[in-house]
Amino acid sequence: MHARSLVAATLLAVCVANTHAQSTVATTPDRLVAAAKRAAGSDHAGTFLRICVAPDNLNGTPRPPPTRAAPDRAAWYAHPYKVFDNLYFLGTQIHSAWAVTTSAGIIVFDTLFDYAVEPEIVDGLSTLGLDPKNIKYVLISHAHGDHDQGAAMLQSRYGAKIVMGAADWESTLQRPASAPGGVPKRDIAVGPEGLKITLGDTTIDVIATPGHTQGTLSYLFPVRDGKRTLTVAYSGGTAFNFPRAAENFAIYRDSAIKMAAAAKAAGATIVMSNHTEFDRAWDRARIAQLPRAQGEKHPYEIGTESVQGYFEMMRDCAEAQRLSMN
Ligand SMILES: [Zn+2]
Repeated sequence: MHARSLVAATLLAVCVANTHAQSTVATTPDRLVAAAKRAAGSDHAGTFLRICVAPDNLNGTPRPPPTRAAPDRAAWYAHPYKVFDNLYFLGTQIHSAWAVTTSAGIIVFDTLFDYAVEPEIVDGLSTLGLDPKNIKYVLISHAHGDHDQGAAMLQSRYGAKIVMGAADWESTLQRPASAPGGVPKRDIAVGPEGLKITLGDTTIDVIATPGHTQGTLSYLFPVRDGKRTLTVAYSGGTAFNFPRAAENFAIYRDSAIKMAAAAKAAGATIVMSNHTEFDRAWDRARIAQLPRAQGEKHPYEIGTESVQGYFEMMRDCAEAQRLSMN
Protein backbone atom coordinates (compact mmCIF):
# COMPACT_ATOMS: atom_id res chain seq x y z
CA MET A 1 0.00 0.00 0.00
CA HIS A 2 1.25 3.47 -0.84
CA ALA A 3 2.06 5.68 2.13
CA ARG A 4 -0.31 8.37 0.91
CA SER A 5 -3.30 6.10 0.66
CA LEU A 6 -2.53 4.60 4.07
CA VAL A 7 -2.57 8.10 5.54
CA ALA A 8 -5.82 8.84 3.73
CA ALA A 9 -7.38 5.63 4.96
CA THR A 10 -6.26 6.34 8.50
CA LEU A 11 -7.61 9.89 8.41
CA LEU A 12 -10.91 8.65 7.05
CA ALA A 13 -11.02 6.00 9.74
CA VAL A 14 -10.43 8.63 12.41
CA CYS A 15 -13.27 10.74 11.02
CA VAL A 16 -15.60 7.76 10.99
CA ALA A 17 -14.60 6.47 14.38
CA ASN A 18 -14.07 9.35 16.71
CA THR A 19 -15.66 7.41 19.55
CA HIS A 20 -13.09 4.65 19.19
CA ALA A 21 -10.10 6.83 18.35
CA GLN A 22 -7.78 4.36 20.02
CA SER A 23 -8.55 1.71 17.42
CA THR A 24 -7.56 3.95 14.54
CA VAL A 25 -3.96 4.63 15.54
CA ALA A 26 -3.09 0.94 15.64
CA THR A 27 -0.57 0.15 12.95
CA THR A 28 0.47 -3.43 13.62
CA PRO A 29 -1.62 -6.54 13.06
CA ASP A 30 -1.62 -7.41 16.77
CA ARG A 31 -2.73 -3.93 17.78
CA LEU A 32 -5.42 -3.92 15.11
CA VAL A 33 -6.76 -7.26 16.33
CA ALA A 34 -6.80 -5.88 19.88
CA ALA A 35 -8.61 -2.75 18.65
CA ALA A 36 -11.10 -4.91 16.76
CA LYS A 37 -11.74 -6.95 19.90
CA ARG A 38 -12.47 -3.76 21.85
CA ALA A 39 -14.73 -2.45 19.09
CA ALA A 40 -16.59 -5.77 18.96
CA GLY A 41 -17.22 -5.89 22.68
CA SER A 42 -19.59 -8.59 23.80
CA ASP A 43 -22.24 -7.66 21.20
CA HIS A 44 -20.17 -8.85 18.24
CA ALA A 45 -17.90 -11.51 19.72
CA GLY A 46 -19.01 -14.17 17.24
CA THR A 47 -18.18 -12.07 14.21
CA PHE A 48 -14.85 -11.03 15.74
CA LEU A 49 -13.98 -14.70 16.21
CA ARG A 50 -14.87 -15.53 12.61
CA ILE A 51 -12.87 -12.78 10.86
CA CYS A 52 -10.12 -11.76 13.29
CA VAL A 53 -9.04 -15.11 14.78
CA ALA A 54 -7.64 -17.51 12.17
CA PRO A 55 -9.79 -16.11 9.31
CA ASP A 56 -11.05 -18.52 6.67
CA ASN A 57 -8.54 -17.56 3.96
CA LEU A 58 -5.44 -17.75 6.16
CA ASN A 59 -4.02 -20.48 3.92
CA GLY A 60 -5.02 -19.05 0.55
CA THR A 61 -8.55 -19.28 -0.82
CA PRO A 62 -10.98 -21.46 1.11
CA ARG A 63 -13.64 -23.58 -0.49
CA PRO A 64 -16.86 -21.78 -1.36
CA PRO A 65 -19.92 -22.62 0.74
CA PRO A 66 -21.16 -26.18 0.20
CA THR A 67 -23.85 -26.85 -2.39
CA ARG A 68 -24.60 -30.35 -1.17
CA ALA A 69 -27.98 -32.00 -1.21
CA ALA A 70 -30.34 -31.07 1.60
CA PRO A 71 -28.97 -32.08 4.98
CA ASP A 72 -31.18 -33.42 7.75
CA ARG A 73 -34.04 -30.93 8.17
CA ALA A 74 -33.68 -30.94 11.96
CA ALA A 75 -30.18 -29.49 11.49
CA TRP A 76 -31.41 -26.36 9.68
CA TYR A 77 -35.17 -25.79 9.73
CA ALA A 78 -36.32 -22.77 11.72
CA HIS A 79 -39.87 -21.58 12.33
CA PRO A 80 -40.70 -18.15 10.80
CA TYR A 81 -41.22 -15.20 13.14
CA LYS A 82 -42.50 -11.65 13.06
CA VAL A 83 -39.59 -9.66 14.54
CA PHE A 84 -40.62 -6.06 13.92
CA ASP A 85 -43.99 -4.71 12.83
CA ASN A 86 -42.72 -4.69 9.21
CA LEU A 87 -39.94 -7.32 9.34
CA TYR A 88 -40.23 -11.11 9.36
CA PHE A 89 -37.54 -13.75 9.89
CA LEU A 90 -37.71 -16.45 7.19
CA GLY A 91 -34.27 -17.94 7.68
CA THR A 92 -32.88 -21.27 8.72
CA GLN A 93 -31.00 -21.89 11.94
CA ILE A 94 -27.83 -20.91 10.04
CA HIS A 95 -28.74 -18.46 7.26
CA SER A 96 -31.09 -15.50 7.35
CA ALA A 97 -33.79 -14.49 4.94
CA TRP A 98 -36.10 -11.62 5.79
CA ALA A 99 -39.33 -10.15 4.49
CA VAL A 100 -39.95 -6.41 4.72
CA THR A 101 -43.62 -5.60 4.30
CA THR A 102 -44.61 -2.32 2.66
CA SER A 103 -47.83 -0.62 1.55
CA ALA A 104 -47.24 -2.01 -1.96
CA GLY A 105 -45.91 -5.53 -1.43
CA ILE A 106 -43.05 -7.50 0.04
CA ILE A 107 -39.27 -7.14 -0.28
CA VAL A 108 -37.28 -10.29 0.50
CA PHE A 109 -33.64 -10.21 1.59
CA ASP A 110 -31.73 -13.33 0.49
CA THR A 111 -33.11 -16.67 -0.60
CA LEU A 112 -31.13 -19.44 1.19
CA PHE A 113 -30.03 -22.76 -0.33
CA ASP A 114 -32.46 -24.19 -2.89
CA TYR A 115 -33.72 -26.84 -0.47
CA ALA A 116 -34.80 -24.16 2.03
CA VAL A 117 -36.58 -21.61 -0.16
CA GLU A 118 -39.93 -23.42 -0.29
CA PRO A 119 -40.22 -24.45 3.38
CA GLU A 120 -38.73 -21.27 4.84
CA ILE A 121 -39.66 -18.41 2.50
CA VAL A 122 -42.79 -19.54 0.65
CA ASP A 123 -44.36 -21.57 3.47
CA GLY A 124 -42.95 -19.17 6.08
CA LEU A 125 -44.77 -16.20 4.55
CA SER A 126 -48.00 -18.19 4.39
CA THR A 127 -47.64 -19.30 8.02
CA LEU A 128 -47.27 -15.66 9.03
CA GLY A 129 -50.39 -14.65 7.08
CA LEU A 130 -48.50 -13.07 4.18
CA ASP A 131 -48.93 -13.96 0.52
CA PRO A 132 -45.75 -14.89 -1.41
CA LYS A 133 -47.49 -13.65 -4.58
CA ASN A 134 -46.88 -10.15 -3.18
CA ILE A 135 -43.07 -10.45 -3.32
CA LYS A 136 -42.02 -7.57 -5.58
CA TYR A 137 -38.25 -7.42 -4.99
CA VAL A 138 -35.64 -9.93 -3.89
CA LEU A 139 -32.37 -8.39 -2.77
CA ILE A 140 -29.35 -10.70 -2.85
CA SER A 141 -26.62 -9.67 -0.43
CA HIS A 142 -24.05 -11.59 -2.47
CA ALA A 143 -23.91 -14.39 -5.00
CA HIS A 144 -23.00 -17.39 -2.88
CA GLY A 145 -25.31 -20.40 -2.92
CA ASP A 146 -26.31 -20.14 0.73
CA HIS A 147 -27.96 -16.77 -0.05
CA ASP A 148 -29.05 -16.90 -3.68
CA GLN A 149 -30.10 -20.40 -4.75
CA GLY A 150 -33.78 -19.60 -4.19
CA ALA A 151 -33.71 -16.47 -6.36
CA ALA A 152 -34.55 -18.06 -9.73
CA MET A 153 -37.68 -19.73 -8.31
CA LEU A 154 -38.99 -16.54 -6.68
CA GLN A 155 -38.39 -14.72 -9.97
CA SER A 156 -40.06 -17.27 -12.23
CA ARG A 157 -43.00 -18.15 -9.93
CA TYR A 158 -43.92 -14.71 -8.56
CA GLY A 159 -42.33 -12.29 -11.03
CA ALA A 160 -40.15 -10.79 -8.29
CA LYS A 161 -37.39 -8.47 -9.48
CA ILE A 162 -33.95 -9.73 -8.43
CA VAL A 163 -31.48 -7.08 -7.24
CA MET A 164 -27.79 -7.98 -7.14
CA GLY A 165 -24.43 -6.25 -7.29
CA ALA A 166 -23.25 -5.88 -10.90
CA ALA A 167 -20.16 -8.04 -10.38
CA ASP A 168 -22.21 -10.77 -8.72
CA TRP A 169 -24.63 -10.83 -11.67
CA GLU A 170 -21.60 -11.58 -13.86
CA SER A 171 -20.58 -14.58 -11.77
CA THR A 172 -24.19 -15.77 -11.42
CA LEU A 173 -24.88 -15.69 -15.15
CA GLN A 174 -21.83 -17.90 -15.75
CA ARG A 175 -23.40 -20.75 -13.77
CA PRO A 176 -24.66 -23.76 -15.73
CA ALA A 177 -28.44 -24.09 -16.04
CA SER A 178 -28.12 -27.26 -13.94
CA ALA A 179 -26.81 -25.27 -10.93
CA PRO A 180 -28.81 -25.93 -7.74
CA GLY A 181 -31.92 -23.74 -7.81
CA GLY A 182 -31.29 -22.72 -11.43
CA VAL A 183 -30.02 -19.38 -12.69
CA PRO A 184 -32.08 -16.18 -12.42
CA LYS A 185 -32.39 -13.86 -15.42
CA ARG A 186 -30.62 -10.54 -15.09
CA ASP A 187 -32.87 -7.92 -13.51
CA ILE A 188 -31.48 -5.01 -11.50
CA ALA A 189 -27.71 -4.61 -11.24
CA VAL A 190 -26.28 -2.32 -8.57
CA GLY A 191 -23.09 -0.43 -9.39
CA PRO A 192 -20.55 1.19 -7.08
CA GLU A 193 -22.83 4.22 -6.63
CA GLY A 194 -25.53 2.12 -4.94
CA LEU A 195 -29.28 2.41 -5.39
CA LYS A 196 -32.43 3.33 -3.51
CA ILE A 197 -35.32 0.92 -3.90
CA THR A 198 -38.71 2.33 -3.00
CA LEU A 199 -41.79 0.13 -2.73
CA GLY A 200 -44.91 1.88 -1.47
CA ASP A 201 -44.10 3.61 1.82
CA THR A 202 -40.65 2.03 2.29
CA THR A 203 -37.21 2.83 0.88
CA ILE A 204 -34.22 0.52 1.10
CA ASP A 205 -30.89 2.28 0.73
CA VAL A 206 -28.72 -0.24 -1.12
CA ILE A 207 -24.99 0.35 -0.62
CA ALA A 208 -22.26 -1.33 -2.66
CA THR A 209 -19.82 -2.89 -0.19
CA PRO A 210 -17.38 -5.04 -2.21
CA GLY A 211 -15.08 -7.28 -0.21
CA HIS A 212 -16.64 -10.62 0.67
CA THR A 213 -17.53 -10.78 -3.03
CA GLN A 214 -17.00 -8.04 -5.60
CA GLY A 215 -20.73 -7.38 -5.79
CA THR A 216 -21.64 -7.57 -2.10
CA LEU A 217 -24.54 -5.29 -1.14
CA SER A 218 -25.40 -3.86 2.27
CA TYR A 219 -28.52 -1.94 3.27
CA LEU A 220 -30.02 0.71 5.46
CA PHE A 221 -33.75 0.42 6.06
CA PRO A 222 -36.43 1.34 8.61
CA VAL A 223 -38.16 -1.06 10.98
CA ARG A 224 -41.16 -0.24 13.13
CA ASP A 225 -41.38 -1.21 16.79
CA GLY A 226 -44.76 0.03 17.96
CA LYS A 227 -44.70 3.81 17.70
CA ARG A 228 -40.95 3.94 17.12
CA THR A 229 -39.13 3.67 13.81
CA LEU A 230 -35.57 2.38 14.05
CA THR A 231 -32.87 2.12 11.38
CA VAL A 232 -31.12 -1.14 10.52
CA ALA A 233 -27.62 -1.34 9.09
CA TYR A 234 -27.54 -4.68 7.28
CA SER A 235 -24.09 -6.05 6.49
CA GLY A 236 -24.15 -8.15 3.31
CA GLY A 237 -20.86 -10.04 3.43
CA THR A 238 -18.62 -10.93 6.32
CA ALA A 239 -16.21 -13.86 6.18
CA PHE A 240 -12.75 -13.59 4.66
CA ASN A 241 -13.24 -16.40 2.15
CA PHE A 242 -11.98 -14.44 -0.84
CA PRO A 243 -8.49 -14.95 -2.32
CA ARG A 244 -5.86 -13.85 0.20
CA ALA A 245 -4.44 -10.71 -1.43
CA ALA A 246 -3.60 -7.34 0.15
CA GLU A 247 -5.78 -5.44 -2.31
CA ASN A 248 -8.81 -7.59 -1.44
CA PHE A 249 -8.41 -6.78 2.25
CA ALA A 250 -8.09 -3.07 1.34
CA ILE A 251 -11.36 -3.22 -0.62
CA TYR A 252 -13.08 -4.96 2.30
CA ARG A 253 -11.65 -2.45 4.79
CA ASP A 254 -12.83 0.52 2.71
CA SER A 255 -16.35 -0.93 2.48
CA ALA A 256 -16.42 -1.27 6.27
CA ILE A 257 -15.42 2.41 6.58
CA LYS A 258 -18.12 3.33 4.05
CA MET A 259 -20.79 1.38 5.96
CA ALA A 260 -19.73 2.86 9.30
CA ALA A 261 -20.19 6.35 7.87
CA ALA A 262 -23.52 5.50 6.23
CA ALA A 263 -24.84 3.86 9.41
CA LYS A 264 -23.76 6.85 11.47
CA ALA A 265 -25.37 9.35 9.12
CA ALA A 266 -28.61 7.35 9.21
CA GLY A 267 -28.55 6.96 13.00
CA ALA A 268 -28.67 3.16 12.77
CA THR A 269 -29.14 1.44 16.13
CA ILE A 270 -29.43 -2.12 14.81
CA VAL A 271 -26.99 -4.39 12.95
CA MET A 272 -28.26 -7.31 10.95
CA SER A 273 -26.40 -9.81 8.81
CA ASN A 274 -27.15 -12.86 6.71
CA HIS A 275 -25.64 -15.63 8.83
CA THR A 276 -27.32 -16.10 12.18
CA GLU A 277 -23.91 -16.50 13.83
CA PHE A 278 -23.12 -12.82 13.08
CA ASP A 279 -26.24 -11.17 14.52
CA ARG A 280 -27.81 -14.04 16.52
CA ALA A 281 -30.84 -13.72 14.25
CA TRP A 282 -32.42 -17.05 15.15
CA ASP A 283 -32.04 -16.33 18.87
CA ARG A 284 -33.22 -12.75 18.60
CA ALA A 285 -36.17 -13.68 16.41
CA ARG A 286 -37.38 -15.99 19.17
CA ILE A 287 -36.57 -13.58 22.01
CA ALA A 288 -38.61 -10.96 20.14
CA GLN A 289 -41.70 -13.15 20.73
CA LEU A 290 -41.49 -12.65 24.50
CA PRO A 291 -43.39 -9.91 26.29
CA ARG A 292 -41.18 -6.94 27.20
CA ALA A 293 -41.06 -5.10 30.48
CA GLN A 294 -41.92 -1.39 30.47
CA GLY A 295 -39.12 0.47 28.70
CA GLU A 296 -37.24 -2.70 27.72
CA LYS A 297 -35.60 -2.38 24.31
CA HIS A 298 -36.23 -4.61 21.34
CA PRO A 299 -33.67 -7.46 21.44
CA TYR A 300 -32.12 -6.22 18.19
CA GLU A 301 -31.61 -2.64 19.40
CA ILE A 302 -27.96 -2.18 20.40
CA GLY A 303 -27.46 1.57 19.91
CA THR A 304 -25.39 3.71 17.59
CA GLU A 305 -22.03 3.09 19.32
CA SER A 306 -22.30 -0.67 19.09
CA VAL A 307 -23.33 -0.41 15.42
CA GLN A 308 -20.18 1.66 14.81
CA GLY A 309 -18.17 -0.93 16.73
CA TYR A 310 -19.37 -3.66 14.37
CA PHE A 311 -18.05 -1.91 11.27
CA GLU A 312 -14.87 -0.74 13.03
CA MET A 313 -14.21 -4.35 13.94
CA MET A 314 -14.67 -5.38 10.29
CA ARG A 315 -12.32 -2.58 9.22
CA ASP A 316 -9.61 -3.42 11.75
CA CYS A 317 -9.76 -7.19 11.19
CA ALA A 318 -9.29 -6.62 7.45
CA GLU A 319 -6.50 -4.13 7.98
CA ALA A 320 -4.74 -6.51 10.38
CA GLN A 321 -4.72 -9.21 7.68
CA ARG A 322 -3.58 -6.76 4.99
CA LEU A 323 -0.67 -5.54 7.10
CA SER A 324 0.30 -9.07 8.11
CA MET A 325 0.98 -9.83 4.43
CA ASN A 326 3.60 -7.08 4.04
ZN1 LIG B 1 -20.67 -15.73 1.16
